Amino acid sequence: MTKLLPGTAMTLIAAGLCATAWANTADTAEWGYTAPSGPESWSELKSEFRLCTSGKEQSPIDIHDAVKAGVEPPTFTYRPSTAAVLNNGHTIQVSPTDPGGITLTSGAYSLVQLHFHTPSEEKIQGRSYPLNAHLVHRNTAGELAVVALLFEEGAHNPTLESILAAMPKDAGGTATLETLNIADLLPATHNAYSYMGSLTTPPCTEGVRWNVLTTAVQISRAQLEAFQALYPMNARPVQPLNGRSVQVDG
Ligand SMILES: [Zn+2]
Repeated sequence: MTKLLPGTAMTLIAAGLCATAWANTADTAEWGYTAPSGPESWSELKSEFRLCTSGKEQSPIDIHDAVKAGVEPPTFTYRPSTAAVLNNGHTIQVSPTDPGGITLTSGAYSLVQLHFHTPSEEKIQGRSYPLNAHLVHRNTAGELAVVALLFEEGAHNPTLESILAAMPKDAGGTATLETLNIADLLPATHNAYSYMGSLTTPPCTEGVRWNVLTTAVQISRAQLEAFQALYPMNARPVQPLNGRSVQVDG
């Protein structure tokens, strides 16, 4: 079971993280998901954001015509860890302290943070899902690999519940989870669509290795509404493939 730390400890940790959180929020506050600072204008807001328009391998995408490739699905080595939960003004972001990571054919990556978008940023054959999680990993060379997890409406999700129960209502707010095992969020099978893409938020940096799990997991309507009460819409529209191929393992 995931439990919150007792009130006193949580307050101390939250106080320690707040300065950083607010600095991050202030730095990125000028972009959002609605006009005049929405996705269509990101590249005009700051010169560092120019790839959001000029990039040729941007994310998210609508996944279709995937090529069956003989590669292995990602291997997950997640383990229970304490985790910081931050409302960063764009989403709820969870940063576990020592969560393990993934191994792809390109090597091993450690989990850095996960966060949520509604509706899902990735689409599959034109179909959108009510929510997705992006699990952001980094290898020792600093290269990024993201695992995207799609949520469909259905059963109550107990692992997600610990995050939703802890998430701060106000931008800049933080909380701490005593223990969280990201492995508990994963579906039973780990097959994935893989392709090269970018960060889906400014500065839209490319060279990100994307792995979208083909099996969705469930979230209840009440849980979805709890997230949407804070962030009703925080998804970038799908971007052109520009000749990229999408592979599916198995
Ligand atoms: Zn994301």
